[in-house]
Amino acid sequence: MDYQRLAELLFPNVTKTTADIEAEYPARVLPEGAKVTRFAPSPTGFVHFGGLFPTTVAERLAHQSGGVLYLRIEDTDARREVKGAAEGLIKTLARYNINFDEGAVLGENGEVCDKGAYGPYKQSLRGPIYHVFAKQLVSEGKAYPCFTAAEELEELLAVNKKEEIKNTDWQAEAESRRAEMLKAREITLEDVEKNLAAGNPFVLRILADGDADRKIKFTDLVKGNMEIPENDEDFVLLKSDGIPTYHFAHAVDDHLMGTTHVIRGEEWLPSLAKHLQLFRYLGFKTPKYMHIAQIMRLDENGNKKKLSKRDMGANMDDYTGMGYCPEAVCEYVMTLLNSNYEEWRMQNSDKPYTDFPFNIKKMSVSGCLFDFDKLNDVSKNVISRMDAKKVTDAVIEWALEYDTPFGILLQENRAMAEQIFAIGRGGKKPRKDLATWRDAKPYMGFFFDEYFEVECDYPEKFPKEDICAVFDGFLDSFDENDDMNVWFDKIKAVATANGYTTDMKAYKADPSAFKGNVADVSMFLRLAVTGKINSPDMYSVMQILGKDKVTERIEAMRAKIN
Ligand code: GLU
Repeated sequence: MDYQRLAELLFPNVTKTTADIEAEYPARVLPEGAKVTRFAPSPTGFVHFGGLFPTTVAERLAHQSGGVLYLRIEDTDARREVKGAAEGLIKTLARYNINFDEGAVLGENGEVCDKGAYGPYKQSLRGPIYHVFAKQLVSEGKAYPCFTAAEELEELLAVNKKEEIKNTDWQAEAESRRAEMLKAREITLEDVEKNLAAGNPFVLRILADGDADRKIKFTDLVKGNMEIPENDEDFVLLKSDGIPTYHFAHAVDDHLMGTTHVIRGEEWLPSLAKHLQLFRYLGFKTPKYMHIAQIMRLDENGNKKKLSKRDMGANMDDYTGMGYCPEAVCEYVMTLLNSNYEEWRMQNSDKPYTDFPFNIKKMSVSGCLFDFDKLNDVSKNVISRMDAKKVTDAVIEWALEYDTPFGILLQENRAMAEQIFAIGRGGKKPRKDLATWRDAKPYMGFFFDEYFEVECDYPEKFPKEDICAVFDGFLDSFDENDDMNVWFDKIKAVATANGYTTDMKAYKADPSAFKGNVADVSMFLRLAVTGKINSPDMYSVMQILGKDKVTERIEAMRAKIN
């Protein structure tokens, strides 16, 4: 067969050579060891938690090594494309600190455009480039066309659909496909000419040289050493509309764009033999691969399940509404990615997570478990390390959008809100009340009459006369200028005067010798002033509320229980 002639027949309009294209994509000039990674989503919807995960790995590896992270939009399947998805995912990822150095970026008017010298970064704009490499493969006898008459194609599609549903005899099916494939390899130049003249469409197939009984040794940077069967399937490189399959576009693009590390979901592992074959056929250096296991969750029965698109927590755009701050989500992703991250965090509480030396070897080989309890825990720690101003700004911004009356109230009382969020913050053991901005209102809404509400009654064992006597004693001596020690000494004095001991040891030894202890007295006051059994430090609460409001609430409680 005259392959050169075949290539000319199939691609008469391709005049460039692969050398021409290579010259347009010179090797990147980067420091020693710098990694070039990418995120290569199909613009079919939102960013999934399972997508943020490998992308964070890509981001860390690139930026930690002085390399490049770029975004490539894999939009070769126009039917699945969702309008605005590419824009949406760029914005979402930016919220989670994934900023691309290069690739598809947002232009001034919010449209997707290219930045960088290795584009176009949208596969739909790269058609002519794929065709140059396809032509080269044909001219070397490594790929061949497979024609189907247009009517036949229609028929075939209909039959295939039915077969997909009915066919259970996979063995026979595989054998007949193989026979068909081998027959298709026999195509002659004459057949090609005839088909082209008749206007019949063709797909371009690779001429696979593999043997499924032989194994290729391969090292995945996450999964380790593995052996995979060689590829013996003449898979499609170009579809009948000339658009490349993922396999072909992956090899051409990752080569030309200089990707050093391909980080992608493990669902691509079964296709790896195809990709290795293709890189070899094209004469490209194979990149390093990292196949990341899918994120799991526990279902109601405690069984591990894949975190699916519909599961709570899957859509990264939902986190904002739920009130999670991006820093917390990033921190959580880091705890999942590297087993030693939390230990590092304990020793480096004030450093940004980007200072952590991310290590591929510390990644989990099997799937990580997504779990809201852990996320909340991590988030509480992250928020506890923020200063009051930052928390106040974030809560107001969030509330203005998701709980507007509360947002406006905080905005109008900003100084007070900041004082409130400063309670218990900044020390060695900061309070950890907030996992999300949504938690702010239940935590501190009581400062404002609009949200103040007494949540429960006093336990029956305490006579209301005692409670009122404590109120009287407290209000008689309360001076908002007292420091915390004096303030508490006064509470202790009120307790003692009313038969509530301040000696916790004595109380524990014989509770019946007392009406109660000083903690009960504090509780009487706390429930009156905050409406809650648990609240932030009461001295600070009273300082912020001021004498008039404290008195008003205590008097109101007296009226309520009488
Ligand atoms: N477009 C592919 C996907 O969305 C990309 C896989 C890859 O990263 O190579 O699954």
